Amino acid sequence: MSVTGYARHGDVAVITMDNPPVNGLSQALRHGVLAGMQRAQDDSQVRAIVIVGSANGFSGGADIREFGTSLAAAEPTLRTLIRELDDCEKPVIAAIGTIAMGGGLELALGCHYRLAAHGARIAFPEVKLGLLPGAGGTQRLPRLIGLKLALAMIVSGRTVAADELARTRLFDRVVAGDLLTAARAFAAEIAPARPLPRARDLNVEPVSDAKFAEMAAHCDSAPVADLPAPQACIEALHAALGDFDEGLVLERKLFTRLMQSPESAALRYAFFAERAAAKIPDLPATTPVREIRTAGVIGGGTMGRGIAMAFANAGIEVKILDTSEAALRDGFASVSSIYAGAVQKGKLSAEEKSARTARISGTLAAEDLARADIVVEAVFEDLDVKRQVFETLDRVAKPGAILATNTSTLNVDRIANFTARPADVVGTHFFSPAHVMRLLEIVRGAATSKEVLASVLQLAKRLNKVAVVAGVCEGFIGNRMLRPYLRQAELLLLEGCLPHEVDAAVERWGMAMGPFRVSDLAGTDVSGLIRKRQYLEQPERPRSLIADRLVELGRFGQKSGKGYYLYPAGGREAVSDTDVERLILELAKSAGLVRRAISATEIVERLIFALVNEGAKILAEGIALRASDIDVVYLTGYGFPARRGGPMFYADTIGLNTVLAAMHGFAANPASDPGSWTPAALLVTLAAAGKALTR
Ligand code: NAD
Repeated sequence: MSVTGYARHGDVAVITMDNPPVNGLSQALRHGVLAGMQRAQDDSQVRAIVIVGSANGFSGGADIREFGTSLAAAEPTLRTLIRELDDCEKPVIAAIGTIAMGGGLELALGCHYRLAAHGARIAFPEVKLGLLPGAGGTQRLPRLIGLKLALAMIVSGRTVAADELARTRLFDRVVAGDLLTAARAFAAEIAPARPLPRARDLNVEPVSDAKFAEMAAHCDSAPVADLPAPQACIEALHAALGDFDEGLVLERKLFTRLMQSPESAALRYAFFAERAAAKIPDLPATTPVREIRTAGVIGGGTMGRGIAMAFANAGIEVKILDTSEAALRDGFASVSSIYAGAVQKGKLSAEEKSARTARISGTLAAEDLARADIVVEAVFEDLDVKRQVFETLDRVAKPGAILATNTSTLNVDRIANFTARPADVVGTHFFSPAHVMRLLEIVRGAATSKEVLASVLQLAKRLNKVAVVAGVCEGFIGNRMLRPYLRQAELLLLEGCLPHEVDAAVERWGMAMGPFRVSDLAGTDVSGLIRKRQYLEQPERPRSLIADRLVELGRFGQKSGKGYYLYPAGGREAVSDTDVERLILELAKSAGLVRRAISATEIVERLIFALVNEGAKILAEGIALRASDIDVVYLTGYGFPARRGGPMFYADTIGLNTVLAAMHGFAANPASDPGSWTPAALLVTLAAAGKALTR
């Protein structure tokens, strides 16, 4: 099937791009557009050429299916096509409906005129993949909208409404009604006078270096700020002040450099990893899904209220069930203050706040959940409480309702068996704060039906979450890997480190927060309760001496003003505490350890390789479907640095043999819990075969 069309309407040639799903600029499409243009040039009847997209928009940019294949660089490349458009002697008009992103926008910038439909959106999202627009975007955009706006768009990767740019040279017209009709009318209107308006012929309004530096400093590149791409975007945009062709050469040089950078490789890997995570091999696209219109949440605590907001934000009505008026009141007060904060920061309109708040109601009667299409339980992490909740749910929920548990560690199969309908039970493990964090670990129980799984995967998209499916085991993917990570963190304290040294080492390496700041944030009492149960269930399990002692001392972390650190005046700033230092020294002594200086490299390797080893076991057991799923969990739920692509990808980057050699070294140190460094069989096999986890 052809991905481009050609038609002549009087003296206007119309080239249509139609390459589902988003008009990716595949080689076939590029070839089709070029062929259409040549045909129009050769036809003496044609006076103007219109390029238009499909119902799915003008173009979403590069065709991601071509990434990593020879087709991506095959002629005509996007740059060749744009050069031909730019040089065309007949006027070329881009008619932009819905979206023009990345290369799609560059294609439009290479045309002589541009029309956009009201509501169309444009963006250069390349920076988010560690790249820059590499087909003239950095040189043409500032010539059309000015340096300041171009910097803001390209460095942030932000999507902008065409209407916002209606007054710039970028759009000759922003039109209502049928776009193609408007484009043809426009073609009839444009004067035959030459030369044709070309972005390349325009000059960027000059600015001083100081002014440029100030504009660049104000650009928001938040998620990738510390990576090379934003700086490269700025450098390329600076070149737009000079000669166009020289600017193009620099843009290409920078693009090639970024394309070869490990940071961009990691970001592009993560982009595909997120897409892959949504594909479940035994869940065909035809699997029926259940409609979710209303939801229930049981427990309006930390998680319940966040989950309720996630539903309300997605337009789904939600009822919170708790055990007392006071608990409900607390929940609502917190929801209200979060929404009020968003309004204050200009992130939410007052109307939207009211609409979202109105979607959340509360109840003390379980029977009120009878209408809910899905109920998410977020009560205390205690199997008996969960049992009581699920027995009640089994009684009151309507047939076909999805019964979900937000448990972080308990066995979803056991919870499912508290009901007579285990096929309807699934784990939906949200992360705190649940209305913000993108990750949703979906725990597929032994009995969970395909329909329920498919429905929850679809729901995740509506909630704007990245879903990763995990099998049943203690802690699923994320928290199970955290256990050996935290174990090493504690052992490092006993062997010679202080909390701030461990945190600083991994934070410098890129983790959003070190293990002890995280523990203080989450509450040391929460993990303390989980450990208490685990000590009962697994008496042989090694004790967490320091963590347990902190709980005994009432040092619950930020909420009690002290944990591994002090939090003066109820603030969030972690300050080292000599009491904790004394406690660590005392416990190390009673464990018979002689403390030593430990390098930042050893700290990082012990923590990160502990994740890698457990991840490999999880993969071999089938708890995770693919290594990249594990990486998605760590990137979106645990603050793993995006530029390193996740623990599995990172292990591949440095080489599995390197990881194994380091683990072997750690195992020789009796204080590092040698048993925990027994390498996962999968790591050994892959390394021996020269293979990788993620490829
Ligand atoms: P929480 O203590 O903040 O809130 C629990 C709420 O449940 C309270 O409002 C309580 O009144 C209510 N509740 C208790 N028993 C109930 C019952 N029988 N019926 C109705 N309501 C009841 O707990 P949380 O931190 O929100 O955790 C809830 C669940 O989410 C736990 O399973 C926990 O493991 C899991 N989880 C927590 C986090 C986190 O960071 N806090 C992250 C992921 C998952």
